[in-house]
Amino acid sequence: MKIISIKKGHDIKKVKQELTALGLWTSPYGGAASTARGGTPDTMLVVDPQSSAVAEARLLEVEGIEEVYVSASKHPMVDEHPAYVTVGDVRIGDGAEPVFMAGPCSVESEAQIQESAAMVKRAGARILRGGCFKPRTNPYSFQGVGVEGLDWMRQAADAHDLLVVTEAMAPGHVDVVAKCTDIFQIGARNMQNFDLLHAVGRAAKPVLLKRGLSATIGEWLQAAEHLLHSGAESIIFCERGVRSFDDNTRFLFDLAAVAMIRHVYKLPVIADPSHATGRKDLIPVMGNAALAAGAHGLIIETHPSPGVACSDAAQQLDEEELLSASKSWGFHRP
Ligand code: PEP
Ligand code: MN
Repeated sequence: MKIISIKKGHDIKKVKQELTALGLWTSPYGGAASTARGGTPDTMLVVDPQSSAVAEARLLEVEGIEEVYVSASKHPMVDEHPAYVTVGDVRIGDGAEPVFMAGPCSVESEAQIQESAAMVKRAGARILRGGCFKPRTNPYSFQGVGVEGLDWMRQAADAHDLLVVTEAMAPGHVDVVAKCTDIFQIGARNMQNFDLLHAVGRAAKPVLLKRGLSATIGEWLQAAEHLLHSGAESIIFCERGVRSFDDNTRFLFDLAAVAMIRHVYKLPVIADPSHATGRKDLIPVMGNAALAAGAHGLIIETHPSPGVACSDAAQQLDEEELLSASKSWGFHRP
C-alpha cells in the first residue's frame, strides 16, 4: 500500500478527488508514523493496496502530494503499536508482570457479580470480566442481562479496586458500554464485524480483541488495524482457541499464535484457556503453557456457583479452583 503526505496548506479533498479520478480508493491515515512525519489524518492518505497499477511517479505528479511512502504491510498502524498498553494503573505487555483478568462468563445478577468481584480480587486479579450481552450459538440460550448489568459490574469492580473488561456486540451498545468499561471486548464471533469494530474504535478506548473462531493471524491483525484506524486507543490481542476437528477440547488452543503475537509482532497478547479448552481440569496447566509461550496475562472464567451458571458452566472455576490455579500461575501472592 502507499501512504501519501499532502503539502502543508493544500486541500486534501482536491488531492482525494484527483486520486479518485485515477481510479484509486483512499482513506485518511492517522498512524503514529504519520505524526512522526509531521502528519495527521488531515494531511495523510492511504491508497488501497490493490491499486498498485498507478506508479509512484504518477502519484507524485498530482498537485499537493509531497511524498509517497510504500509500505508492504496490510496493517501499518498495528506495526507501530507499542509492545505494552496502560489501562488505569495496570500495564499489560512487555516490561510488565503478567496480568490476571477473571470473572464470570455472564453477569447474572447484582449479587453474583459482587461475589465474583470479591473472589477474583482475593485470587490476585486486577481486571474483572463478565458479559452483559452474550453472543450465544443457540437463540434460546441465555442472552445476557443487558444494559442493567453494566452498572452492577462497574459498582462491583469499583468496590474491589478492579478494572472492567466487557463485550459490546452491536454498534448500538457502544455508547452505553463505554460509560461503564475500561476495556472493550470484541468477541471471537465478532472479530470481523467491521461496523462494530469501527463503532468501538470511535469510542477511543483500549480494546481486548479476541481471535475469530477460524481467523488467520493476518486477519486478526487486520481486524486490529480496523480498530486503530477508527480511533481505538490501544489493542490487547486475546487467543481463545480456533476451530479444529477434535471435540475432546472445545477449541484448539493455538499457543504458537500467542508466541507469534508476542515475540514476532511484539504486541500485547493474553490467552483464554477457559474458552479454548472448555474444561476445568485443563485450565491450570494450559494457563501455564500460555504464559510459557509468552502470554502477557490470562483471562479466566469463574463463578461463585459454577453448577448453576447461566452460560459456560462446564468451564467456570469455583473459588477454590480459582485460588489454586492462580497460585500456580504466580498471580496470588498472600
Ligand atoms: C466470552 O468471553 O464470554 C466469550 C463469549 O468469548 P469468545 O468470544 O472468545 O467465545
Ligand atoms: Mn464464556
